[in-house]
Amino acid sequence: MTRPPGPRAMLHSGLCIGCGSCVALAPPSAHAAMDFDGYGQLRPTGSAEWLRSGSAQLSRTCPFSPAALDEDVLAASLFAPAQRHDPAIGRYLAAYAGHVAEEEFRAQGSSGGMASWVAV
Ligand code: SF4
Repeated sequence: MTRPPGPRAMLHSGLCIGCGSCVALAPPSAHAAMDFDGYGQLRPTGSAEWLRSGSAQLSRTCPFSPAALDEDVLAASLFAPAQRHDPAIGRYLAAYAGHVAEEEFRAQGSSGGMASWVAV
């Protein structure tokens, strides 16, 4: 059996999304915290020993750990009534697509500019 990954291994893999789960579950002795990296993304920090140490708990809770359940398994359990499935997006009840009709919002926004348009 391979050794479970620690936070540092997840960071180096490029799979850390900065969710903070590992920090929330870390013991006080780890001095764990979330901090922004040079790209403005939240990343776990802490003692070198904690960052190196893998655990079964981290493997179960880090969303991108090799041991974590994938989205299809989770969705089958949590969203059983959603019977539609697409290999690209997974299980779903319904899917809608749209964009803002005002061109400047659409051109400058992501996701069709919807969030910016609603906020304005
Ligand atoms: S639990 Fe979250 S913050 Fe910690 S290594 Fe995994 S993805 Fe990153």
